[in-house]
Amino acid sequence: MVKKNPNNSRNKKHLIAVNKTKKYDAVIVGSGPNGLAAGIVLAQKGKKVKIIEGSDSVGGGARTKFLTLPEYKHDVCSAIHPMALASPFFASLPLHQYGLKWITPPFPVAHPLDDLPAVIMDLDIHKTANGLGIDGDAYLKLFKPIIKDFNALLPDLLGPFNPVPKNPLKVAKFGLNAIRSAESLINSKFKEKQSRALLAGLAAHSIQPLDNIATSAITLILGAAGHVVGWPLPEGGSQALSNALADHFTFLGGEIETGNMVTSVEQLTDATTVLFDITPKQILAIAESKIPDFYVKKLKRYRYGPGIFKLDIALDGPIPWKDENCKKAGTVHIGGTFEEIAQAERQVFEGKHCEKPFVLLAQQSLFDQTRAPNGKHTVWAYCHVPNGSTRDMTQPIEDQIERFAPGFKDLILFRKKMNSVEMQAYNPNYIGGDINGGIQDLRQLFTRPANLFDPYRIPDTSFFICSSSSPPGGGVHGMCGYHAAQAVLKYLG
Ligand SMILES: Cc1cc2nc3c(=O)[nH]c(=O)nc-3n(C[C@H](O)[C@H](O)[C@H](O)COP(=O)(O)OP(=O)(O)OC[C@H]3O[C@@H](n4cnc5c(N)ncnc54)[C@H](O)[C@@H]3O)c2cc1C
Repeated sequence: MVKKNPNNSRNKKHLIAVNKTKKYDAVIVGSGPNGLAAGIVLAQKGKKVKIIEGSDSVGGGARTKFLTLPEYKHDVCSAIHPMALASPFFASLPLHQYGLKWITPPFPVAHPLDDLPAVIMDLDIHKTANGLGIDGDAYLKLFKPIIKDFNALLPDLLGPFNPVPKNPLKVAKFGLNAIRSAESLINSKFKEKQSRALLAGLAAHSIQPLDNIATSAITLILGAAGHVVGWPLPEGGSQALSNALADHFTFLGGEIETGNMVTSVEQLTDATTVLFDITPKQILAIAESKIPDFYVKKLKRYRYGPGIFKLDIALDGPIPWKDENCKKAGTVHIGGTFEEIAQAERQVFEGKHCEKPFVLLAQQSLFDQTRAPNGKHTVWAYCHVPNGSTRDMTQPIEDQIERFAPGFKDLILFRKKMNSVEMQAYNPNYIGGDINGGIQDLRQLFTRPANLFDPYRIPDTSFFICSSSSPPGGGVHGMCGYHAAQAVLKYLG
């Protein structure tokens, strides 16, 4: 237990003058995509920066490892990266010079159904709409304006809450459909089983009940991204993105120290500023005694969401989908109808395990031959579970895949399982298996981690938060790091 500083009152002890005599202008705790992004922004401005990573390799939630058999490369966490390719900050970096190559499967998403052909989200919005029966027009009407405004909207959507958005009219138009629940959006515009299932699958990425307000925002962003940039994967695995970011950071003069898990602020004394690429609970464990009481209270109130159970599988061939179109999709959403998915996500949120879970599946090796030996394949699949769950969900996940791909189980050569507790042991940022660094409901979407005007600076300290627990939240896009670094530059003057 950290002994509390008795003088821990606001505006006194913690008003830290900028001390420029330290060895580093900034030390960043954690080398996830946001830590690396923050490091690059600061190094670009000539700041002396060090990243300290607890694990033995960089990348946080964007790493690739041999988890099953030799020569099978598995993305341990993130696999599919629409928001990395859409990220205005990543787009400004010469990452291709460090070997990063994006592969874009022809279909961002396939969504198999029991009694109908699989619903396909094609890169081409018109082809997608053609598969949605009488809902085709509604799909075009909903997504076309967002696609048109996509690049103009991104700076506002991928940043902190801004009372004066850069594109107020476009943001207001987007907000009309975004600040509502996915369920109400879908019910109000879509009638066909196919379109309702497709949109439910997108909405379920929010890891919340589909009737929560703002679950439509993620539905719309992921859907539009599918038609603007696709849902791509890096050749060789997510690690290729992390390596490119790390190489660029060191090229700019940054230092990286791996294998050093920070447990106390005493390890960070050689830095003028500290950026935490970690979540509120971890920040408190490291630095509570240095943080003003009112802010400690806010961080203690920060809420985490459900966890995940993940399977990585080495397969003796491609997944034998009943519907051949599923083989052209990088991501397959498995869970059946809108109603089934809505029920599954609701159950998880209420702390129950679902026997027919919504499964997110990626089949990278179909598009990237570096992932598995010739003719063999990798499967990346997970489902949502209650926070902190240790339940083995292998059978429910595999049953769901088998439902749409009979014979799948017979092809399994080896599987690696990770429950929520094991996820957190692998990366301490996944508190109870929450992969977004905190639930992303309306209250914690744009104003995370605490409802303050500057969400990145820990008030009255030289500490900053740059992880997905700050806006714009989870996903590999580096924009939390980018914005946190802007706050640091402002502080450093
Ligand atoms: C199974 C799974 C699937 C996912 N799929 C996708 C996907 O397909 N697409 C997508 O965009 N996103 C996906 N995500 C989410 C994405 O990985 C995260 O949102 C993203 O990595 C967050 O980045 P970050 O930099 O904030 O934190 P992280 O990537 O979590 O990085 C934090 C780093 O800090 C280190 N660290 C923690 N504590 C300390 C300490 N005390 N001292 C030193 N180092 C420390 C950790 O080791 C880690 O390297 C997925 C996540 C998981 C788990």
